Amino acid sequence: MYRNVVGALATRHGKRAALAAPLRRAVGLRLRVPDVDTDALGTFTGEVPRTAPADRLVVTKARLGAAAAGCPVGVASEGSFGPHPAAPWCPLDVEHVALVDDRIGLVLVERAASTDTNHAELFTDGDDRAGLLAFARRVGLPGHALTVLPAVPPDGTYPMVKGIVRLPALLAAVTDAAAASRDGRARVAADLRAHHNPRRMRVIAEAGRRLARRLATRCPACAGPGWGVVGTRPGLPCRACGTATERVGELIHGCPLCDHRVTAAPADTADPAECPRCNP
Ligand SMILES: [Zn+2]
Ligand SMILES: [Zn+2]
Repeated sequence: MYRNVVGALATRHGKRAALAAPLRRAVGLRLRVPDVDTDALGTFTGEVPRTAPADRLVVTKARLGAAAAGCPVGVASEGSFGPHPAAPWCPLDVEHVALVDDRIGLVLVERAASTDTNHAELFTDGDDRAGLLAFARRVGLPGHALTVLPAVPPDGTYPMVKGIVRLPALLAAVTDAAAASRDGRARVAADLRAHHNPRRMRVIAEAGRRLARRLATRCPACAGPGWGVVGTRPGLPCRACGTATERVGELIHGCPLCDHRVTAAPADTADPAECPRCNP
C-alpha cells in the first residue's frame, strides 16, 4: 500500500539520507522534503525550547510536513539526549521516527537508542588552548561540528555560532563569546543537529529501519500495516529456579489500527545473578 506513494519528510537537516533507503526497500515508499520550518517546534541548539516530549513532537512534525506538502503520508524524526537510565554517568541518544498516514488513520512511532554519542560541553575562558583542542578531538572535529555561545550571555540575545568544523573558526568564536560573556567564559558544545553529527545520523537510520520493518509487517487480524512490539512485561524466569525476575519477559505484539494483541512467552531465561531468590 506504499508502493510508489510519495510521503513528506519534514527535515532541514539532511535526514533523507538516513530514512529514504530503508522505507523504499521495505515497502516502496518514496520521500520528498517539503519546505517547512521544523525549528519552530524546538531546536537542539536550544534557541527554541521544545514544547513536548520527543515521542509526541515527532508525530506533530510528521503531520506538519504532510500538511505542507499536501500528502496524506508524513515522516519525521526527533531525538533526545539524556543520561542512560541504568548507567546515569553515560549519555544516551534516543531517536524517534514517526509515520502518519491519514488515508487509514495510522500513527506509528519507532525508536532506537545508542550510547555512542558525542553529547558533551566545555566551559572555557579560551586560555587553555590544549584543553579546547582535546575537547574538539573528543567530540570528533572535523567530522562532527561544534557550537559556541557565551557561558552567561549579555542582556538581549547573542547569536550562537553553529556548525563549526575548523580550528581557526573555533578559536575565533571562543574568543568572541568569552569576551561577551558576563563571566568571561565561552560554552563550547557538540553540534547535535543531524547533518553535523554522523553518530546521531546512524541512530536515526536504525530507528528508520525498525519503522520500515513495522510497516512491512501486517496485522494477522486486520491485515493493516505496522504490526510489532507495543509493550513488554517484566518477569523473565530465572534459569536456576524459575522465579520471575525484573528482566523483560513477555513481549506484547499489537496492531496500531485494530485492538488485536498477542502476548509472546519469553524465549530466554534470566541469569541467577538477577534472581531475587538465588541472589537476594
Ligand atoms: Zn489490526
Ligand atoms: Zn533463581
